[in-house]
Amino acid sequence: MDIAQYEGSTVNINTELSKVSKHDRKKVIEKYRRIAEKGAMTCPFCSEKLLLRAGEIREIHFAHPAGKTCQEADAYDTYRKQTRRENKKHSIIKEAIYTELKSQEVIKPDLRVEYGYKEKAAEKWRHYPDIYMNKGGREFAISVITHVHEIGDEKVVKTISKRNQYFAAKGLETIWFVEDRELADDFEHRVLHLWEAEYGLAIKTVADRLWDAFLEGIMQDFPYNNIFELFRYRSYARMHFDVRSLYYVHSTDDEITFSVYRMILDKKRKPFRAFALNRGYRMHMSSALIVRDEIVLSREEQEDQDRIQFAIEVAERIEQLREEKIAQEETRFAEHIAAEEVTKQNARSRVQALPPEYQQAVAAAAEIVHVDIDVLEYMDKLKTATISAQEAKKLFYYMERHRSELDDYGLSFDEVKRHINYALGRVGNPDIRKWLVEVEYL
Ligand SMILES: [Zn+2]
Repeated sequence: MDIAQYEGSTVNINTELSKVSKHDRKKVIEKYRRIAEKGAMTCPFCSEKLLLRAGEIREIHFAHPAGKTCQEADAYDTYRKQTRRENKKHSIIKEAIYTELKSQEVIKPDLRVEYGYKEKAAEKWRHYPDIYMNKGGREFAISVITHVHEIGDEKVVKTISKRNQYFAAKGLETIWFVEDRELADDFEHRVLHLWEAEYGLAIKTVADRLWDAFLEGIMQDFPYNNIFELFRYRSYARMHFDVRSLYYVHSTDDEITFSVYRMILDKKRKPFRAFALNRGYRMHMSSALIVRDEIVLSREEQEDQDRIQFAIEVAERIEQLREEKIAQEETRFAEHIAAEEVTKQNARSRVQALPPEYQQAVAAAAEIVHVDIDVLEYMDKLKTATISAQEAKKLFYYMERHRSELDDYGLSFDEVKRHINYALGRVGNPDIRKWLVEVEYL
């Protein structure tokens, strides 16, 4: 390992070497080698004497004497390997979070906070969280991810998801803090664009469950609306209300802050994205890391405000949608009327373009198509033999096309024929008789 206990404090050999020029490296190595040989450098975990090894194959490191080691030193090495890809800020952020949580142990008897590798050294885990937390029996794996520009790498994605699964299999709930980045959020379209790794880092907290319940209520209030469609969010697949959160850490020389994002993850596929429920807001470390049943990681008033804002927007969008629909209907109706007018106009001008004799034929055809007579009145005319030639013609076309409607008048075709027979016995005009006879042949 890279550390040893010396004169009351921990020495990291890599840190010591980074302080000197390349030229002086040998001198520093030689100095610590001699000190170690005298037995003055010890293991910070088991207090056993350590030696400094500067071989060709392995990096320079402190080691227990041949054949011996201790569990915690092993765990420490595993952890160091695991965090090798992280940047300098990783340990700063980790230490700040550790200190903040650890300080609460005093006032919360059912809270235990420890470095992951220390807590689980005896169990020889394959991966360790940065910080282990136990609150009333619930165990949490807290980890910080830095070098986020690499977070899109296939390898990093695999590493993170492997660790996530490993901790979950060990019964731990995972909490991830992602070092700040150019967050690709587009609140206008309600989209959070994510790396695949980030997709896997979104967690579920008490505050997310409050959002779940809130959205459930909204659904009951507006059962006929799809919330995602209302916000014009273009989802990959049907989405379910399962709110998750992502936490970004921002560290400056003065302070560490968190930003909190609540979202609903879209289907897991490239490019990865989520529906954004809030704009994201900042929190100071001390308020974000208060431990109740779990780490708070939310600001209540802010959450309430975000939810109210969300509800207002839903209502506004529904109203907007309603107005759009009405306007659409009106436009459609107006268009329909206009189209009908155009069709009529076109037909009229087509007929007007025909020679006069055709125009007459068209008019006659139109008259025949629209056969509309008062059937009972016509029956009376038959009975009294007062039917005209024009009416007899109309009667024929009516019987030809609409015979089935006779039922509506309580008449049968046979009865009509009887009336016609009667009229034929009394009417001599051949123009009338011609049409009445036609009816008989129907
Ligand atoms: Zn040891």
